[in-house]
Amino acid sequence: MKRSYGIITIDEDKCQGCVNCMMSCRTEAIRIFEGKARIVTNRCIYCGKCFRDCPEHAITSRTHGLEDLKNFKYTIVIPSSTIYSQLPGEREPNRILCALKALGFDHVYEEAIGAEEASIATQEYLKGYQGPYPLISSLCPAIIRLIQIRFPHFVDQINPIDLPAEIVAKDIRKAKAKELGITQEELGIFYLVPCPAKMVAVTKTETKERSFIDGTISIADIYGELMAALREVREEEGLQKASSAGIGWAVKGGEIRELEPRRWLRGDKESIVVDGIKNAIKVLDEIENGKLRNIEFIEARACPEGCVGGALTVADRYVSRGRIRKLMLSHGSESVVDRAEVVKRFKEGYYFFEKGLKPKPFAVRLDTDPLKAVEKMKVRDEIHVSLPGLDCGACGTPNCRAFADDVVQGKAEITDCIFKWREGVKDLAQEVMQWAEKRPHSLPKRGR
Ligand code: SF4
Ligand code: SF4
Repeated sequence: MKRSYGIITIDEDKCQGCVNCMMSCRTEAIRIFEGKARIVTNRCIYCGKCFRDCPEHAITSRTHGLEDLKNFKYTIVIPSSTIYSQLPGEREPNRILCALKALGFDHVYEEAIGAEEASIATQEYLKGYQGPYPLISSLCPAIIRLIQIRFPHFVDQINPIDLPAEIVAKDIRKAKAKELGITQEELGIFYLVPCPAKMVAVTKTETKERSFIDGTISIADIYGELMAALREVREEEGLQKASSAGIGWAVKGGEIRELEPRRWLRGDKESIVVDGIKNAIKVLDEIENGKLRNIEFIEARACPEGCVGGALTVADRYVSRGRIRKLMLSHGSESVVDRAEVVKRFKEGYYFFEKGLKPKPFAVRLDTDPLKAVEKMKVRDEIHVSLPGLDCGACGTPNCRAFADDVVQGKAEITDCIFKWREGVKDLAQEVMQWAEKRPHSLPKRGR
């Protein structure tokens, strides 16, 4: 049986309830119930870490596939720059783009061009930005969701410049439909993504009424077909246009690299690149607690090494990082986009989110009645201190504190803790022994 949680699916026939996913999830979004993993969706940031850490490959995500191309008269794919690092033996981006076209798309436009536009737009935004600091990159949707859930007061500090792929789709949608003489609905724009977070950012966009992209396809899903297409591809000239300025966004530090050297960031302040959710939480915690100060800009990526480490990629993240770096060296660093045009559009508001992001704080709500909630809080704390504090996960909850929350909310029973269960059995055994010692007074005493 398969159980869906938005774009994530858990195949319960494969899931062995081994708790690996639960222990690896940094936002405590997984519980094990009746031997199967379940996702608490309002805690999930769609990072995909659990996909990677499930030894049974029971957790997956998908929104669209190549079969969806037939629903449109003309189709376009916008590949994440990560694709340039995924195919062993193939280093030539133009051939990769040609092979993508051969899978059935009518045209291909690089996400990296949108990244170059986003770089310039962010540079312009920083010129007039007066705080609050730090400004936080909007590139990684998993980090955005982490902020919405866990650091909601930082939501207004997220850079309001749109995702590179959305910028590309916006650039081409209207113009291409007009050029082809078809309606915008007949034009299908697909985004080839490295992670579930980008799937959600597009299919459930919160920054506009409707995404400029019609569907997302994961790199892992088309990997085999793409490898086959590469063997026979006939190369066309000039599909690949982006420079290292945009391609570099596939790895951690790629975004900030375009802000620092030209001094778009202030010299008297620091900028930070952080990768991995655990590290991002630590940095945001330190900023919140005033331990890290004077930071102007943060580029935070949920995946180690950046998008090359995305959960829906195929190649080793360190090898992929090396491939992107080599590509950056062999490609010019001068952006191919028309800077004056981007600045003009920036001033017209073209690159900004159409709707502001909203905080979505995850707070354990013990009761709707405040007085009862305070009572339950006391009970929860008593339960918590009575637990062994081993955070072993055997109860199907990631740690003892989360288990105490679940018990007081009626989502778990105290005997789900193996230690509490053993204590209960011991107490019961002692009680049985005491009862066994008792005899009705009408009977003769033992030994007579
Ligand atoms: S996708 Fe990430 S946040 Fe969601 S359940 Fe998996 S590990 Fe946790
Ligand atoms: S770092 Fe990149 S691949 Fe990983 S979750 Fe964020 S956007 Fe997706």
